[in-house]
Order: sequence, then C-alpha cells, then structure tokens
Amino acid sequence: MTKVLIIGGGIAGPVTATALREAGIEAVVHEAYAVGADDIGAFLTIMHNGVDALRAIGLDQVVADNSFAADGLNLYDGTGALVAETRWHTDITGPRTLRRSDLYRALHDEAARRGVEIRHGKRLVHAEHTGDGVRATFADGTRAEGDVLVGADGLHSTTRRLLDPAAPEPRYTGLNIFYGYTEGIAPTTEPGRYHMITGGRAFFGHTTAPDGRTWWFARVAGDESHGGTPAEWVEQAAGAFADDDTPAARIVRASGEVRRGNAYDVPSTPVWHDGRLVLVGDAAHAASPAAGQGASMALEDGVVLAMCLRDCSEPRAAFEHYERLRRVRVEALVSMSARVGADRSADSESFYRHHIEWNGSVVNDSAFGHSAFGHSVPARPGSGQAAEDQVRKGQL
Ligand SMILES: Cc1cc2nc3c(=O)[nH]c(=O)nc-3n(C[C@H](O)[C@H](O)[C@H](O)COP(=O)(O)OP(=O)(O)OC[C@H]3O[C@@H](n4cnc5c(N)ncnc54)[C@H](O)[C@@H]3O)c2cc1C
Repeated sequence: MTKVLIIGGGIAGPVTATALREAGIEAVVHEAYAVGADDIGAFLTIMHNGVDALRAIGLDQVVADNSFAADGLNLYDGTGALVAETRWHTDITGPRTLRRSDLYRALHDEAARRGVEIRHGKRLVHAEHTGDGVRATFADGTRAEGDVLVGADGLHSTTRRLLDPAAPEPRYTGLNIFYGYTEGIAPTTEPGRYHMITGGRAFFGHTTAPDGRTWWFARVAGDESHGGTPAEWVEQAAGAFADDDTPAARIVRASGEVRRGNAYDVPSTPVWHDGRLVLVGDAAHAASPAAGQGASMALEDGVVLAMCLRDCSEPRAAFEHYERLRRVRVEALVSMSARVGADRSADSESFYRHHIEWNGSVVNDSAFGHSAFGHSVPARPGSGQAAEDQVRKGQL
C-alpha cells in the first residue's frame, strides 16, 4: 500500500489520514470547500470514546488545547426539577466541548504538521477502478490516483452513491436543531457542566464556556425547512419552551448568535466498500445529533480503518475486517440516537467505554478493550426516564 486518497476534510478525513501516516502509509486529503462544511458555527462534544480514539494516535492534546472539559450532565424536567446527574472525568481523558470550526482547524493543522497533504477546492464527482488502484475525478476537472479511496465526505456522501447508486438517502428525523451563544447573562451552569432539560414540548441543553458565555442547543419537533431569519429562529426555539419553568426561553432570547438546521440520519448503508473504495464517518452511518456521538464514531472509524490497512495483507481483507469491527456498533448507535431524539428511551453511556489500543493488532483483537468514564448519581430515584434507565442498568 503506497497511497490512499481521502475524500472529505471534516473530522473523519484528517483523522484517518493522520492515523495512516502514523502507520507509515501516505494519505492525501481532498476537501470540497476552501474552509470546511456548512454548519461550521455549531459546537459539539467529543465523548470519552472519541477522546480515546484521538489518544490512540496522539491527537488528544491538540484537541484539548482547543476545547474545554465537559465535567458532567444534570438532567432536569420541564418544571426545573433535577432528575439525574452524571459526573465525568475532567482530565484529558474526559469529554471535550468545542466549536466545530476549531476542531476542523486543530485536526487539519496537526495532520499537516505530521506531513499529510490537504488539497482544498477538490469536490469528488467520480471514481473508477484502474486495475491495481483507483482514479478520482474532481469537479474542477483534475484527477488523482491511489491504491484505495476513503470516502469521508459526510452525510450527503458522493462516495456512498458511487459505491451504490441505490444507497438510501439521509432520512429527516423530524427535529429542527437550533444552536446559539449567549453573553451578557449570569453563568447558567457550573463551568463546563451540561444542563439538559426535557421540556414539555422540546429538549434543551446548555453549558458555560470558560469566558462565561452560555453555549446552548435546542431540539424542536418540526417540518424540514431551510429558510427563515435569525429573529424567526429565536421565536421558534424560545416558543417551544414558553410553557416550561426553566431558563431555556430566556437564554435563547438573550442570544446574539443563533443558527438553525435539520437533523438527519442514515440508519444503514448496505455497501460500505468494494475492495478499492470504502466509507468512514457520516458517509457510512450518520446518527441524529441527539446522542452526541457522530463525531466520536467518525474518530473511531478513522483510527480503526487505518489499523486494518496496517494489519491486513491487502485492501479488500482490510475493508472486510473494518466493516466487521464497525458495522454493529455504529448501527446500534444510530438506532439509540433516534430513540433519544424521539422519547429519550435510551442512554448513551454504554458507548463511552470503547478503547482502542494502537499497538495492538486488529487481526487478533488485542486492539480493543474497555475504559472507565465516570459515574452517575441518582438525584431523584424513581423519577424520570434517566432514573428508569439507571434502574435498568442496575445502578439504582
Ligand atoms: C447540528 C449538529 C450537531 C452535532 N453535534 C454533535 C455532537 O455534539 N457530538 C458529536 O459527536 N457529533 C455531533 N454531530 C455529528 C457530527 O458533526 C458528525 O457525525 C461528524 O461531523 C461526522 O464527521 P465526518 O468527517 O464523517 O463528516 P463531516 O464532518 O460532515 O465532514 C465531511 C467533509 O467532506 C466534505 N465533502 C463533502 N462532499 C465532498 C465531495 N464530494 N468531495 C470532497 N469533499 C466533500 C465536506 O465539505 C466536509 O468537510 C452533530 C451534527 C449536527 C448536524
């Protein structure tokens, strides 16, 4: 294996390239945009398993330097009552919150520093086998050749369609997602702590960044739509919490910066590879944002795929092994995230414990294990879905 073409410079792309580089395999990233993806202003949380994947290839510190620790989660109901509380590690092994743009920049800079070439303005439009490799064609008319092509091109992946023209399209989950940053109000949580609110009509989450600003998001049931003004989005989001006795509506109305999007998922992609082309991240399996795991799964994918290409004798064997290792886990996540989004009848903690041992082998399974992630504290036993989940897990 001498050269891997990677399509997409979001999260999975640069991480796969960096992991391949660590494995001694050349990778070149081809990103469609000059700067990155559409919802660049949103923020996200990388959970324990995502941080673990970063650590496998020494990327945890650069991400830590560009983020703040998420130290746990308080869950409230619409009356403002605390239902459950979870504490997480706050050292470098714990979850991190950061803007998507900062994550992209940190991953790009570190990949480039380690010698990965990143080409911008390269939108993949076609790919074909050449006998002993693959040739990619880009919208600007240029081409690139390599041994294999990794489709890290996200939710609306071109690589997915090239692999299988009948591949399912992303499915609208029925949820509008609002994001914002609010300043000029007193801190609404302890620094880094998430307060989540299951309101009567919608779900709200907020945390306090080190500079005192409140970072918040809201998931509101609604039609798929792409229009509207920031003032209208504020009304839609704040209105969904008007009947609750929580700070949600006040935080939204005080926000100087609001964004809105629709949440999609891709529950199952039948074809993940054809021996030369392979999918990672949202291109293979997109989860709705409800479980906050899409980025972490993309990070896991990238590292595991690189290990498979390192440890297996030829690409088809590597891709078959990669699919065997990843498909069940990521499809379970997509299904769990859909349930969290719909009725919160699921919990995501079981996904946090995944551990990748870079120096182990994917062939004999010495590359995987479990790690600790913190603990849950029942705040009001017997009340609320979170408490029911804890009962089910034997924690109460
Ligand atoms: C509103 C929202 C909130 C979220 N919050 C969280 C969260 O808190 N925690 C979490 O873990 N996950 C979260 N997610 C999910 C997470 O963002 C995705 O799972 C993650 O970005 C997937 O990474 P990726 O690299 O596969 O795709 P992306 O990050 O989407 O990157 C794909 C890249 O490919 C490029 N590209 C696309 N087509 C082409 C082409 N034809 N040629 C070349 N390049 C192309 C794009 O420009 C982009 O840069 C959220 C998602 C959304 C929408």
